[in-house]
Amino acid sequence: MRVLIVEDDLLVGDAVRLALVAAGFAADLVGSAEAARSALQAEAFDLMVIDIGLPHENGLRLLQGLRSRGRVLPALILTARDGLSDRVSALDLGADDYLTKPFHVPELVARCRALIRRANAVASSRVMFGPLELDMAHREVSVGGRLLELTHREWAILECLVLNAGRLVSKDKLLHAVADWSHDLTPNAVEQYVSRLRSKLGPAATIRAVRGMGYRIDDRVD
Ligand code: CA
Repeated sequence: MRVLIVEDDLLVGDAVRLALVAAGFAADLVGSAEAARSALQAEAFDLMVIDIGLPHENGLRLLQGLRSRGRVLPALILTARDGLSDRVSALDLGADDYLTKPFHVPELVARCRALIRRANAVASSRVMFGPLELDMAHREVSVGGRLLELTHREWAILECLVLNAGRLVSKDKLLHAVADWSHDLTPNAVEQYVSRLRSKLGPAATIRAVRGMGYRIDDRVD
């Protein structure tokens, strides 16, 4: 799951980015509305965190522009403490959630998880998939009560496959789920993560390669 953070205050932006990465997301930081639009054109994201206070063009105008062009990507807006009218405008313009500065970073991370879950139409933070039980909040997976030890990236691949269960997930999409700009990963890396994931999952789930294009997860073994 990949998050685009739009914040010109580097201290705040980087703190948010590091917290999201520590929580297992891939996260990229840009400092202006213009840079955000370029990033969104170039890459696939699952969520945006947009600060209203940006230079030249504020976060509300950025959001308005994106929504008017049909962008439905979930958006969490950061507003100033006294920004009641900004919060109202943000929700009216199609923001999915907001947080008032100063905020607690763990709350921001929890809200990001909730927005991504909602976007993927998963009501609960616990998802059953065959014998697998995924705890989306703690990014843990267990089989019959036994916790599997996955790395952040293995978890990100599994999460992306399970949320798209039964559908082909392209290698590119998986790459976006695990990579951000600070890491230069190739599609081969995805194959390695999938291969390690397969051996950790054992017979609990089957990850099928589909004609070299991507993968599909199946809870049956046949
Ligand atoms: Ca700012």
